[in-house]
Amino acid sequence: MADETTERFLANIRVFAREVVARHAPAWARGEAPDPAILTQAAGIGLTRIEVPAAFGGLALGFRAKVEACAIIASVDFGLAMALVNTHNVAKRIAISAPSPVATRLLPALLNGHASACTALTEPDAGSDAAAMQCRAERVDGGWVLDGEKTWIVNGRHARYSIVYAQCAGQGRAAGIAAFLVDLADPACTRYAIESAFSQASIGTGGFRLNRCFVRDERLLLPAGTAFKAILEEINGARIYVAAMNCAMVSAALRIVHAYGETRQTFGKPLNQHPSWREKRAECATALAAAWSLVEAAIAATEAGGETRHLAAAAKVNAVTLAQRELPALLHAMGAEGLRETYPFARHIGAAQIAALTDGSTAMLLDRLGRWDPTPIRL
Ligand SMILES: Cc1cc2nc3c(=O)[nH]c(=O)nc-3n(C[C@H](O)[C@H](O)[C@H](O)COP(=O)(O)OP(=O)(O)OC[C@H]3O[C@@H](n4cnc5c(N)ncnc54)[C@H](O)[C@@H]3O)c2cc1C
Repeated sequence: MADETTERFLANIRVFAREVVARHAPAWARGEAPDPAILTQAAGIGLTRIEVPAAFGGLALGFRAKVEACAIIASVDFGLAMALVNTHNVAKRIAISAPSPVATRLLPALLNGHASACTALTEPDAGSDAAAMQCRAERVDGGWVLDGEKTWIVNGRHARYSIVYAQCAGQGRAAGIAAFLVDLADPACTRYAIESAFSQASIGTGGFRLNRCFVRDERLLLPAGTAFKAILEEINGARIYVAAMNCAMVSAALRIVHAYGETRQTFGKPLNQHPSWREKRAECATALAAAWSLVEAAIAATEAGGETRHLAAAAKVNAVTLAQRELPALLHAMGAEGLRETYPFARHIGAAQIAALTDGSTAMLLDRLGRWDPTPIRL
């Protein structure tokens, strides 16, 4: 049961999703960049401060609040939800791991939405196998010199700050990877936007190249030996909110289809009076209930401080696969009307494809689950 502060926070997010995000999402799907004022509005209602400690101006809410906030925004626009939560996660990491003067200096712009941030592991030649990254961190007097390229990064096209993972030792050694806080406004950084057939506008996808970029010692956030383990744990949590976001996209689509099925007439009666049409929706609702239950189990395990590696992976694989299967079917259930841009079906279909790759691709997670036994009772 959420406390009063969390309830108030989530109520504001619902209004924001309904009244602001829903109005602009069709234009973002056509490739229009979100107005920066929307990001400051999102920050104003706390979306970049959720888990950030109160001492740094954060809301200090729990993991569940973050998952629910992400799901509410994603039910309208997955891309914006990903953009905001990525800035949020960097702000949280800075608050926890940066020296206090650095955190005090940099956090206000992230928390008030005047700057965005990203987390960069992926490179042109290292995606699933992140430990094979080639971005180098070379020790020099007073700091480090970073050289290499990061690509397919949420917020990469506009982020002011990035937590960049780079190799301090030989290539391919996870233990040699450290995390640096890089100011992407540095002249040693060149960046580019990445577009695709599914719009990347609200998620802000892009890449950047660091050309021997100097980073002061104080901005080494996680030294080699701890960084890779820390990001794997962070990504584990991300799998749970991405799972919730996919469930939320299916929930939103199913609600629209339910409403449409009551009014659209074919062969003299509403669509939902045709058993074969209704049965498909029932199957979707049943699978969706199971997907939400898995998300709930993963949240509960996280809150209890328990082991979540398998649950998080299973929740994400299950929810993403559900979204990939059901969203096209739900669009189809609307007939031609479902193709209109006022409905979220087409952009949610693109979002599910993106979700299948971010924070551990489906193939990689299935590899992990290959020997998992989820049986909850003694047999
Ligand atoms: C919109 C978007 C936003 C992103 N944001 C970020 C971000 O913010 N930060 C970041 O660091 N990265 C980000 N990524 C990158 C994402 O993490 C990678 O796309 C993902 O790790 C997969 O890497 P890849 O695309 O290079 O595919 P590859 O590693 O080249 O794999 C290609 C395909 O083969 C499969 N595959 C790979 N190896 C195996 C294997 N051993 N067995 C079976 N199948 C295998 C993969 O699952 C995939 O389907 C983002 C990606 C997208 C699309």
